Amino acid sequence: MIYFDNAATTKVFPEVLDKIKIWSQDFYANPNSIHSDGQRSRMAVEESRRYIASFLGVPEDEIIFTSCATESNNTIIRGLAEGYPEKDEILISPIEHKSVLNPVRYLSKRGYKIRFLKVDSQGIVDLDDLNKKITPKTLFVSIIHVNNETGVVQDLESIGKVCKERDVLFFSDTVQSFCKIDINSDSVDFFSVSGHKINAPKGIGFFRRKKDIQLTPLLFGGGQEFGLRSGTENVVYIKALSETVRIWNENRAYFIKKLKDLSGKFINGLKTIIPDVEIVSENAERSPNIITVIFPKIDAQTFIMALNTEGIAVSSGSACSSGTPSPSHVLLSYGYSEEKALRAVRFSFGVDNTEEEVDILLEKIKDIFGKLSVFY
Ligand code: PLP
Repeated sequence: MIYFDNAATTKVFPEVLDKIKIWSQDFYANPNSIHSDGQRSRMAVEESRRYIASFLGVPEDEIIFTSCATESNNTIIRGLAEGYPEKDEILISPIEHKSVLNPVRYLSKRGYKIRFLKVDSQGIVDLDDLNKKITPKTLFVSIIHVNNETGVVQDLESIGKVCKERDVLFFSDTVQSFCKIDINSDSVDFFSVSGHKINAPKGIGFFRRKKDIQLTPLLFGGGQEFGLRSGTENVVYIKALSETVRIWNENRAYFIKKLKDLSGKFINGLKTIIPDVEIVSENAERSPNIITVIFPKIDAQTFIMALNTEGIAVSSGSACSSGTPSPSHVLLSYGYSEEKALRAVRFSFGVDNTEEEVDILLEKIKDIFGKLSVFY
């Protein structure tokens, strides 16, 4: 397969993969044991934490390792609710990932008032609406940094400024932006990251929590990760994550230029083949690797299956809900009709994709579109 589904997950960098076996032997010991082998594992965890913290410009003890972003998002949302019982309103954007929407829905069943923020047709959250909806009862504001379906980037600095002025906590899911778009750490009290979106393995992630903010953990046990995430640390994958961040850090300009070049080539080529194709949020600031396209006439499921038959992997909606032919909640909140939203296909590029692969993609799209459009 030629893989253009990097917003769903990425392939592990080969140099990280090679080291995982060695690290599994070197750092097999429990980092909570006081013997030398245990302490070697502890050092590996703390060096990794230090590296990631310095990359983000935050204190080391504000980085909490978890198994994935879903765990991080649940820990933050449910942990805040327990920490501040006097506040019972939550403000969220309607374009959040399900790992944010569903824990918030869970809280709404337990009496919390959930208020959705307006977004415009390009998918940008309305700051005036945010300002109007904050009340003294607002527990936190949750706004995704880069949307996983459309790649649209929200202005964390401006949102953070409003939240700070109104004395409200600000949480952002930064899963799709981490390493690709700068995260203004000062502006955000909590943010979540997942390793498998940046070429680290699945099963490792972290969140950032500003130190002085109270958070009740989801898991109680041995008190690891500053008491916020009990359970023996996944030393090898923590090392794999920090090594992956190091590779991104050292190649960042090159990687980002490459992603932009691949996306630019794809958009230009696509418009030549199908002039009335629609690029979602074309005029908004978007991440360099995610493009959602609405094809004329042909529904997304048919297009994706036809591409799959030709050896090309892409998605519609979020990967987590792929296979469910219901329209994306993100596109509906941008104001798209259900029918149009069901024609949206997401192409997401990775740093290992090549220009030649984009040429093949465009050729296949031309063939498929030519063949299928006669039936509509
Ligand atoms: N948030 C966003 C924006 C995502 O794209 C995803 C994955 O699709 C997640 C959260 C969940 O990440 P994980 O698979 O690490 O739980």
